[in-house]
Amino acid sequence: MDEHRSVIVVGAGIIGLTTAWELVEEGWDVTLCDPEPGMGASRAAAGMLAAIAEVTWDQSALYPLMVASGRAWPELAARVEAAVGHPVGYLPVETLVCAGDAADRQALADLADLQHSLGMEIESITPSAARRLEPALGPGVVGAMRIPTDHQVDPRVFMAALLELLTPRATLVRRRVTALTRQDDRVVGVRLEDGTLLAADEVLVTAGLDAGAIEGLPPSLRLPLRPVRGDIIRVRVPERLRPLLTRTVRGIVHGFPVYLVPRADGTMVIGATSREDDLAGPSAGGIYQLLRDAQRLVPGVLECEVYEVLARPRPGSPDDVPLVGRLGPGLTLSTGYFRHGILLAALGARLAADLVAGRTPAPDVAAGVDPYRFSEVTA
Ligand SMILES: Cc1cc2nc3c(=O)[nH]c(=O)nc-3n(C[C@H](O)[C@H](O)[C@H](O)COP(=O)(O)OP(=O)(O)OC[C@H]3O[C@@H](n4cnc5c(N)ncnc54)[C@H](O)[C@@H]3O)c2cc1C
Repeated sequence: MDEHRSVIVVGAGIIGLTTAWELVEEGWDVTLCDPEPGMGASRAAAGMLAAIAEVTWDQSALYPLMVASGRAWPELAARVEAAVGHPVGYLPVETLVCAGDAADRQALADLADLQHSLGMEIESITPSAARRLEPALGPGVVGAMRIPTDHQVDPRVFMAALLELLTPRATLVRRRVTALTRQDDRVVGVRLEDGTLLAADEVLVTAGLDAGAIEGLPPSLRLPLRPVRGDIIRVRVPERLRPLLTRTVRGIVHGFPVYLVPRADGTMVIGATSREDDLAGPSAGGIYQLLRDAQRLVPGVLECEVYEVLARPRPGSPDDVPLVGRLGPGLTLSTGYFRHGILLAALGARLAADLVAGRTPAPDVAAGVDPYRFSEVTA
């Protein structure tokens, strides 16, 4: 960048933090506003970088983004790790997808046909081969698929590393942004909850589910984000059982999805519920379902110590695809990452940094994530 330009990033979840870091690396003068950095959806996320295991039907705009971002993660993790000088929670270990009954096995086989048709690498293995890989798998596992390229990152560790890098190089303002400020047609800054005005050359909104609550977004923009809540259980595996798992184990059990993501520190994250109800905290039914299905795949789960139960709303978009683009002079939006915000952070951060800097993104990528695609008027 020739001149020293400034940007305000509104929201410090995985998307805001990763993009802020890319911008700082490019020489931007970054101000990051968030009353509670890292405490939104990104706090709950399991961190599966599951470009293949998360594939479902009729999402042709999403697959290429997921695959491209999955491929970009090793390089992103390596760059952040080199900059911060310690591990950032990225674990390049494979994923095993298991079936809990014969109907689940058929569902996985149907999905594997789709994944193969998209050129994705996935290998069907027998239950006994799966148990050789992961001896903790229970007798309830009746089929399995191996996905070598679906890895994981611990979002909390990664976000902490980014905050560590950003704290000396960017300005962190622990306040909510209530409005965008304009001069003529151009966004020139933000107003904070205490009335303080901040000015910058560019504003990037990465406020997740709450992006639409910020005053001053273009009136023509329709932002149909909805909360899709997920419950998550964090357990500590007793020393005598470690390692209970060495790779991520996902599965379908009697039609319900469940995943168990082992961390390097001997803890494990269990999740997969999707609720569109009004329970802000963890749902009793959701927690019951997760433990019921997790123990069918890995019975040893019931011997673990639960140390956290949490729920957060995912910022859901109608087509599961994020909304990323220029909204007008001085203003860029990057939100709606729904179920895949950790996976898509590598790609989304590069894309938003390009947009803020005025570089033209690849037309096919930009069209898929057009933030005006649900609005009557296009930019
Ligand atoms: C249970 C669960 C499990 C998940 N597992 C995975 C997974 O394994 N893999 C994966 O890829 N994805 C997963 N996801 C999805 C992923 O967590 C989200 O897509 C991602 O965290 C979205 O990131 P974000 O930065 O856009 O939003 P958030 O993390 O919600 O961050 C938004 C930030 O903006 C701030 N903010 C809001 N309004 C304002 C304002 N007005 N002013 C200033 N700041 C503001 C908030 O305080 C917050 O910190 C999961 C989600 C859930 C709930």
